[in-house]
Amino acid sequence: MLRETLVFLSRNKTARKVVTHARFARSASRRFVAGETVDEGIAAAHKLNEQGLAVSIDYLGESVQSREDARAAADVMIRVLDRIVAEKLDANISIKLTQMGQDIDTTFLRENVARLLDRARAADIFVRFDMESSDYVQKTLDFFRALWTDGYHNIGIVLQSYMLRSEADATMASELGARVRLCKGAYVEPATVAYQDKPDVDRNYIALTKLLVEHGTYPGIATHDPKMIDATCQFAKEHDIAKDRFEFQMLYGVRRDLQQALVKNGYHVRVYVPFGEAWYPYLMRRMAERPANMFFIVNNVIRESPLGRLSGHHNGRGA
Ligand SMILES: Cc1cc2nc3c(=O)[nH]c(=O)nc-3n(C[C@H](O)[C@H](O)[C@H](O)COP(=O)(O)OP(=O)(O)OC[C@H]3O[C@@H](n4cnc5c(N)ncnc54)[C@H](O)[C@@H]3O)c2cc1C
Repeated sequence: MLRETLVFLSRNKTARKVVTHARFARSASRRFVAGETVDEGIAAAHKLNEQGLAVSIDYLGESVQSREDARAAADVMIRVLDRIVAEKLDANISIKLTQMGQDIDTTFLRENVARLLDRARAADIFVRFDMESSDYVQKTLDFFRALWTDGYHNIGIVLQSYMLRSEADATMASELGARVRLCKGAYVEPATVAYQDKPDVDRNYIALTKLLVEHGTYPGIATHDPKMIDATCQFAKEHDIAKDRFEFQMLYGVRRDLQQALVKNGYHVRVYVPFGEAWYPYLMRRMAERPANMFFIVNNVIRESPLGRLSGHHNGRGA
């Protein structure tokens, strides 16, 4: 219920306005978001690279309704690509198609994304299309396949293990030789299209992992769940699949201990690094995944509110 409410609030304009303008929320968001500017995103990428972690940089934004905003978002990502090259980062990028104009018009979307993909291809940088809610799955895969057919092979997709259809999509991607990021899925979906119970989502995650690790092209196993990670390592070991045939992926600020432990054990790990001013829906989805994250934010609210400052004073912690 809490998860559904938080995902609902992630799309609510009034809640977005209130939270985005609250000073406490902005500072709390820094736990999961690298910052608001390109410089901050790039700085976070450098720090992670120094720790042996690859990154995928994401400029936050979704459901963009104007061509001007969609073009501006692509321009920001082109600046990011230029910085990746100039600063020799171990980085690729992730984009959301609704940020690039998917809700506006397919021809426009294609022009806007191709601009970005041409630049990425020239620099040999991979571009991942994030997967959004179920309304966009078919459109996203159709768009991806059209680009692939036209020779853009520096692109990959995301599949969600809560979706009933994902096994067929994983098979399609494996046959194409396209890279897949596998995640559980961050939205709230009806039973007509998605598994509703966590054990089913987890069971499907492991089945799809096995399929992709064995037959796919360098899949990204995107999860913080130790059970999923152990099952992946175990399966690869049993089938003599080398550690460099796949990578683990985790979100910025989540399970940093696990990220480091996997690197120490010789696995490739990539951290998804979001930056930008439009952090509200992203932050709400992270809280929906783990209520403890909400308590972390609420804690910050109390600490920064007049009440918190007062109790801090009484506790002798200073003004
Ligand atoms: C690199 C990456 C890219 C992603 N891209 C997409 C995408 O394109 N589309 C999409 O729908 N979803 C995406 N997701 C989100 C994903 O679908 C899940 O919602 C999210 O990863 C939580 O699922 P989980 O596999 O970590 O396992 P869960 O079963 O949710 O959690 C397992 C354990 O992981 C830890 N954990 C999980 N989430 C958090 C968190 N937010 N904070 C702290 N600890 C946590 C907790 O210890 C928890 O007990 C992405 C996730 C990652 C890691």
